[in-house]
Amino acid sequence: MSDMPLTLLWILAALAVGVGTVLWLARRHRERTPTTTDAPAAPDWHAFDADEILTRLDAPAAGLSGASAARRLAEHGPNRLPEGKQRGPWARFLAQFHDVLIYVLLVAGVVTALLQHWLDAGVILGVVLVNAIIGFVQEGKAEDALRAIRDMLSQHALVWRDGRLVTVEASDLVPGDLVQLQSGDKIPADLRLLKVKGLQIEEAALTGESVPVEKDIEPLASDAVLADRRCMAYSGTLVTAGQGTGVVVATGGATEIGRISALVAGVEQMTTPLLRQMAQFGRWLTAVILLVAGLAFAFGVLVRDYTAAEMFLAAVGLAVAAIPEGLPAIMTITLAIGVQRMAGRNAIIRRLPAVETLGTVAVICSDKTGTLTRNEMTVRTLVDATQTVEVEGSGYDPHGGFSVAGQPLQPSDDALLGRMLRALVCCNDSALEQQPEGWRVSGDPMEGALLVAAIKAGLDPETLNRELPRTDLIPFDSAHKFMATLHHDHQGECVVFVKGAPEALLERCEQVQGVDGPQALDRADWLARMERLADAGQRVLAVALKPMPSGTTTLAFSDLDQGLVLLGLVGLQDPPRSEAISAVRACAEAGIRVKMITGDHAATASAIARQVGLANPDAVLTGAELDGLDEPALRARVGEVDVYARVTPEHKLRLVEALQAEGRVVAMTGDGVNDAPALKRADVGVAMGINGTEAAKEAAEMVLADDNFASIANAVEEGRTVYDNLKKAIVFILPTNGGEALVVLGALVMGFHQFPLTPVQILWVNMITAVTLALALAFEPPEPGVMARAPRDARAPVLDRRHLWRIGYVSLILMIGTFGLFLWSLAREASIEEARTVAVNTLVMFEIFYLFNARYIDAPVLSARGLLGNRYALLAVAVLLLFQLAFTYLGPLQQLFGTAPIAAGDWLVIALVGSTVLFLVELEKTLVRRRRAGG
Ligand code: ADP
Ligand code: MG
Repeated sequence: MSDMPLTLLWILAALAVGVGTVLWLARRHRERTPTTTDAPAAPDWHAFDADEILTRLDAPAAGLSGASAARRLAEHGPNRLPEGKQRGPWARFLAQFHDVLIYVLLVAGVVTALLQHWLDAGVILGVVLVNAIIGFVQEGKAEDALRAIRDMLSQHALVWRDGRLVTVEASDLVPGDLVQLQSGDKIPADLRLLKVKGLQIEEAALTGESVPVEKDIEPLASDAVLADRRCMAYSGTLVTAGQGTGVVVATGGATEIGRISALVAGVEQMTTPLLRQMAQFGRWLTAVILLVAGLAFAFGVLVRDYTAAEMFLAAVGLAVAAIPEGLPAIMTITLAIGVQRMAGRNAIIRRLPAVETLGTVAVICSDKTGTLTRNEMTVRTLVDATQTVEVEGSGYDPHGGFSVAGQPLQPSDDALLGRMLRALVCCNDSALEQQPEGWRVSGDPMEGALLVAAIKAGLDPETLNRELPRTDLIPFDSAHKFMATLHHDHQGECVVFVKGAPEALLERCEQVQGVDGPQALDRADWLARMERLADAGQRVLAVALKPMPSGTTTLAFSDLDQGLVLLGLVGLQDPPRSEAISAVRACAEAGIRVKMITGDHAATASAIARQVGLANPDAVLTGAELDGLDEPALRARVGEVDVYARVTPEHKLRLVEALQAEGRVVAMTGDGVNDAPALKRADVGVAMGINGTEAAKEAAEMVLADDNFASIANAVEEGRTVYDNLKKAIVFILPTNGGEALVVLGALVMGFHQFPLTPVQILWVNMITAVTLALALAFEPPEPGVMARAPRDARAPVLDRRHLWRIGYVSLILMIGTFGLFLWSLAREASIEEARTVAVNTLVMFEIFYLFNARYIDAPVLSARGLLGNRYALLAVAVLLLFQLAFTYLGPLQQLFGTAPIAAGDWLVIALVGSTVLFLVELEKTLVRRRRAGG
C-alpha cells in the first residue's frame, strides 16, 4: 500500500508531460503554417488602357491560337489556386495522438513501464502506435475520397480561341486569353475588362463586401485600391448581373486571391453535427470512465487487499475496456463512404453536414424544366394571326412536316409563319450540330428546339444570321422572363426581336402581324389561345418584333416598354422524365412532399404536375398571387399547394421561409444567380450541375451531376442510410465496451486476483473488431424499408431509450457469457492463460454473432438477406477468425498477449455460447415489435 501515493504521482507527472508535449507540438505547427506568401508585385493592370494591355500581353483581339495557349500553359502552369492551408503528413500523424483516450493509454503505458511490466508497456505503446497509423491511413483515404469528389465540380470558362468561342476547363486558362462573362459565372482568373454591359460583380470573396460592384473599362490611377478597381474582375468573385469580356492578366497563384493564401479554404473538416455530438459524448464518457476507474482503484486498494501496482493494471484495464476507441474513426469512415456513394448516384455533397440533413428532409421543392422534365423540347404548335400550325417530328432531328387542321402545309409558302420563325432564329443563342449519334443542341434546349422548327421549315440559321447581324442583346432572365436582340440588315434597317413568356410580352404589344401588315390585337383572345396550349402541358412562348430607327446600335429595357408587334405563339413539348415519376412516388412513400416551382405558366405547370404524379396538381399559386399574400396567409397555404407557377427567384426564398416556419426541413433546387439566397436559406440547397451557374453551386450544399430529380430522391435514401449506419456502428460498438467493463468490474467486486481479461487483451479485442466487424457496418447497404418510413425528426437524439436499452442488454449478455466461460475453464483446471484465451475468444465470438443483429436495428435478420446481405460482413468475419486463430496459436502473439492454445472442444462451446446473442437479440426485437403493434 505504501507505493500508492508514488503511483499517483507518476500518473500525474506523466499526464502533464504527455498533454504538454502534444499541445506544444500543435502550437508549433500552427505557428509554422505561413499565412501569406511573398510574391513579386504584379503590374498595375488597372492603370493601362485596353489597347496597351492587349499589346503587353501579346493577345490578339480574336483570342489566342491553340498553339500559343498551350505554350503559355507550359510557361505559367495550370490556373489552379495553390492548395490551401493543408496539414502535412507529419502534422496529420501527430494529430492522431491528440485524443483523450491516447493520453490515457500513454500514461498507462508509461506507468506500466515504471512498474517494470515491460511486455505490457510495450504492447500498450505498440497499440497506441498501430492505432495512430490506422487512423492516419483511414483519415487520409477519406480525405482523398472527398477531394476526388470535389474535383468533379471543376469550373469551366468561355474563351475565344482561334477566333471561336469555346468552353475550356478553367484550369487551362492562360494570360492573354479573352474570357466571356455572363451572369452567374465565377470569375476564373484575374481579368482586365475590355467590354461590359451592365456587369456587376460581388467581390465578397476578396474584399468581404457583399454589395455587388458596377464594373466599367476606364483605366484608373495606379494607386487605386483593390476594392475600387472597377475595370478589373478578380478570380473567385461572382458575376451577379450583366455581361462582359476581359483579358486574363494573371492565373493560379499569381491572382489576387492566390496571393492571399490565408483566404483559400483548406480541406473541409470531416465533421457533422452528429459527429460533433458523439465527440462531445466521448469526452464525457471518458471523464466518467476515468472517475469510475479511479474509484475502483481506491476501492481495490483500500477496501480489498490488492496492491497498488496490481490495482493500477486493473484500473487501466477498466478504462481501456470502457472507452470506445474505434468509434470516432468508424463514424468518419461511414460518412466518407456515404458521400462517395452519393457521388456515385450523381449527388455531389459540397458541405458534409448536408449528409445528415438529407435524412430529415420533409419537403423537396424542385424546378420543373430539366429536373422533373427531360429538357428535350420539341416545337409542337405555332400560332399566328391567321392559323394554328401543328409541327411533326421528334427530338432535335430537323425533319418533320407542318399541317393545319390535318391538311399538310408548305411552310415556305407562308409568309407569316416564315417571319415568325426568322425572329425565333435571330433571337436565339443556341446552336445545332449533327453528330454521329444524332443531333445535338449546345445552349438552351428550348432555343435549340426553335432552331429545329425553323430548319424543318427550310430556313438556314447561318445565312439568316449573316443577313441580319446582331448588334445588341438583353439576355433572358427568369425575373423578367424574356429575351430581346437588336439586328440591322444591309440596307441599315433596324429591328428588335423579342421572345418570352406570353404575359410578359402581350402587355407590351398593341398590334399583331397580319398578312397585310400590323393590325389591332385582341389581347383576351390571345390569352385564351395561350391557355389552350398550356392546358395541354405545352410550354408557351410569345414572339414579337419592333422596328427601330435606323442606326440604333444599343438596346435598353425602355425600348421594349411598348409598341411591340406580336408575331405569334409557340407551343413546346417537354415530356416528364420517367425516373422522376417513380422518384416522386418513392418520395410520397417516404413521407416527403414534392413541390414544383417553375417560371412556366400555371396551366403548363399543373399539366406536368399531374403527369409526374404530384400529390395535389390542381391547386396552383402564381407569383402574382404570392405577392398578394402576407406571411401568415402564405404559411397557411404552403402546406397544401404543390405547384407554384410564374414565380421569380425571390418567391423561392419566401417559400422556403414559409415552409421552415411551418417546421418542415426543406430541400430546394436552383440554377440561376438569383436562386442563391433561397439555396443558402434552404436546409439542403441543391444546385444543377449541368445547367446551373457557378453562383448557384457556391450557395448549394449539394450539386446534381445530372440535373435529375431522381438523384435528389436517391441522395435522401443515401442520407437516411448513412445516418442508420452511424447509429448501427454506435449500437454495435458500445456493448463490447460495456461487456468488457462489466467483466473487469465483476472480477474486481468478487475479489479476483487474476482478471479474466488483461488490458492488452482488451486492447486487442477492441482494435481487431473495430477494423473488421465495425468497419463492415460502414458498407451496410440501405435497409429494405428506408424509403418506406417518415423522415427522421431533426431534433430527436441519436440514441433513444430503445437503443440504450439494447446496449445495456447486450453488454449484460456478453458479460455473463464471457465471465461464465472463464470460470468454466478454470473449473476444468485450465491454466489462467487458457481460461483468458477462452474468455477473449468468447467475447469475439459474441461480437461476430451480434454483428448480424446490428445490421438491422429493428427489423429481423434471421433470413437469407439478413445473414448474407452484406458481403463485407462475411469477409470481415472470415478475416477476424483468422486473426483469432493467430492470437491463440502463434508463438509470438501468445507471448505478447499472454495467450495459450485451447482445445477444439472449447471452440465448439465458445461458438455455442457466442451464438446465443443472435437469438436473444432477435427475441428482444420480436417482443418490442409485438408490444408496439399491440399499442
Ligand atoms: P422554368 O425553368 O422554371 O420552367 P424559366 O424561368 O426558365 O422557368 O422560364 C419561364 C418562362 O420564360 C418560360 O415559360 C418561357 O415562356 C420564358 N423563357 C424561358 N426561357 C427563355 C428564353 N431563353 N428566351 C425567352 N424566353 C424564355
Ligand atoms: Mg429555366
